[in-house]
Amino acid sequence: MSTLKDNLNQVKQTIQQTAIDCGRDPNSIQLLAVSKTQAADALRAAYQLGQTAFGENYLQEAREKQQALSDLPIEWHFIGPIQSNKTRVIAEHFHWAHSVDRLKVAQRLNDARPATLPPLNICLQVNLDGEASKSGLELEALPELVEKIQTMPRIKLRGLMSIPAPRKHYEEQYQVFMRLNQALNTLKTKQADLDSLSMGMSADLPAAIAAGATIVRIGTAIFGKRKV
Ligand SMILES: *Cc1c(COP(=O)(O)O)cnc(C)c1O
Repeated sequence: MSTLKDNLNQVKQTIQQTAIDCGRDPNSIQLLAVSKTQAADALRAAYQLGQTAFGENYLQEAREKQQALSDLPIEWHFIGPIQSNKTRVIAEHFHWAHSVDRLKVAQRLNDARPATLPPLNICLQVNLDGEASKSGLELEALPELVEKIQTMPRIKLRGLMSIPAPRKHYEEQYQVFMRLNQALNTLKTKQADLDSLSMGMSADLPAAIAAGATIVRIGTAIFGKRKV
């Protein structure tokens, strides 16, 4: 059981050291623990070690854990593909949705966000590699969608998210993340309050931090191999 503690410390250490090495404030990077397939008890253990934000990909599974952990003030992030018939549940039960990639989904999240809750934080998921198998919109489509989302009061656009195709080498990982960074910078010239770059997983964490990630989504390096 000590491995969870060691893993968390190791990931935090990597974030801290990488940030310092590239002249960034380590506190400007949020660690999101990606807990898909992990049992509620594993999340509880991580929470007791100080981890407060968790990312889930599958709605049914996430809702079960939310109910099992309803005594804890966890910050819940939805990071899986969003089907439009799932938007209500996401709008009602999450603080963030990272994987918004089309107008219809944004509109439905906005319409379903309860008035009793603050606006839902969202990121737009960008498909940087043009992979047909992955969700996400093309960089070119961003400005138009961003403009439309501006008019939606119940969702708050925070920035961009991406899951690039795996690359072995640091320099290649860094280059692809920098494209997302530049896209955010371009959007910021029109909309200064965008502040989030959700990028970096267990295999490309340092490159993501060097390229400006503000939320890193780490699963395996914290919880070990995923349960099936
Ligand atoms: C599973 C997943 C992660 C975490 O991946 P690891 O390689 O286990 O760190 C991050 N982001 C998304 C969208 C995921 O689906």
